Amino acid sequence: MSEERQPGFNTLAIHAGAQPDPSSGARVTPIYQTTSFVFDDVDHAAALFNLETFGNIYTRIMNPTQAVLEERVAALEGGTAALAVASGHAAQAIVFHTLLEPGDEFIAARQLYGGSMNQFSQAFTKFGWRVRWADTTDAESFRAAVTPKTKAIFVESIANPGGIITDIAAISAVAKEAGVPLIVDNTLATPYLMQPKEHGADIIVHSLTKFLGGHGNSIGGAIVDCGTFDWIASGRYPTLSAPCPSYHGITLAETFGNFAFAIACRVLGLRDLGPAIAPLNAFLILTGIETLPLRMQRHCDNALQVAEWLTAHDKVAWVNYAGLPGNEFLALAERYCPKGAGGVFTFGLKGGYDAGIAVVSNVELFSHLANIGDTRSLIIHPASTTHRQLSDEQRDRAGAGSDVVRLSIGLEDVDDLIADLDQALAKA
Ligand SMILES: *Cc1c(COP(=O)(O)O)cnc(C)c1O
Repeated sequence: MSEERQPGFNTLAIHAGAQPDPSSGARVTPIYQTTSFVFDDVDHAAALFNLETFGNIYTRIMNPTQAVLEERVAALEGGTAALAVASGHAAQAIVFHTLLEPGDEFIAARQLYGGSMNQFSQAFTKFGWRVRWADTTDAESFRAAVTPKTKAIFVESIANPGGIITDIAAISAVAKEAGVPLIVDNTLATPYLMQPKEHGADIIVHSLTKFLGGHGNSIGGAIVDCGTFDWIASGRYPTLSAPCPSYHGITLAETFGNFAFAIACRVLGLRDLGPAIAPLNAFLILTGIETLPLRMQRHCDNALQVAEWLTAHDKVAWVNYAGLPGNEFLALAERYCPKGAGGVFTFGLKGGYDAGIAVVSNVELFSHLANIGDTRSLIIHPASTTHRQLSDEQRDRAGAGSDVVRLSIGLEDVDDLIADLDQALAKA
């Protein structure tokens, strides 16, 4: 390939960050199953610990298998750098640990993955961080929630579980006015369907557990630094713009420029909080990413067909799939993710809570479990599982009321999926 040519998305999904192993010639990135790495000499060790040279020390902080995964995710999202960690929740914890001080606030969409709502409203209060909720369908609600203590805004690109498409550009405008970074959880869309950086995201987080890994076999998370936020001009983020006591007073934003956020997340957040991804999981997720474009398109195509079929079913009250004609989010879907509206959506049963329990109990091909983004089709009744910790009001607002069933459509033959839902609905 000539120098100027920019590889396309399919090529990046297979090659970004990887090359034949220099010592063995292995074509596939090896699983570097080692805790630590031998220093060349004392000076090399000192330079590594001073952040004067970049290299492997200890797998909690960096590992060659993880590094390929990081470069690949950064390339697919168009970011300057990325950090791979143990889970999506670990990614979120590290992002906020890097941005917030005790007493600070952030604004989050209330249409979120149920676990993120718990993390933000319960666990984070122990760090002295306060979440203010806004409505992801209404950028003005974010503007109204801004206070002098606001340090970040957090949304999901396609909101879990409701099939909502967020107008990222409109919320990015609010973040810019407030002078805070916009964090986008791009788990449900993946960079195949949409790249949040193009719409004004500053930081992207992923649960690699879902579509990126794609096979339901490994938990992982990622943080992508878009390189767009000016930490020094802001001056409100001391972890980045003040001298760092654990690295001899260097200022990370001055030393590392447009990838300083990713570095801070690694050399402070990951070093001190510790949720490293296992090299084996990094390897499995890398293998999954190679087929991301093929899989995502099939997930979307199957989901649209199942959603269309459900719409016509007499036991189904409503179907919320943004790709359906007449859906309130169709225009946003066409603008933000024209290739498809993802593989996850919800529908409502006329029979309410009991009918939801009957459907999840009677499916045979769909698996009743709490995950999304597998090759296999998955089903869950959020009110009795993922969202059961929330109040009725919080559940309704999150799109997880008692009649709601969530599907994550897999890669099977779509006729088999429809036949399975048909027999389960007959028993509801
Ligand atoms: C699963 C999920 C998470 C959490 O990721 P884990 O890997 O399970 O920690 C966060 N956000 C979204 C949208 C998710 O689907």
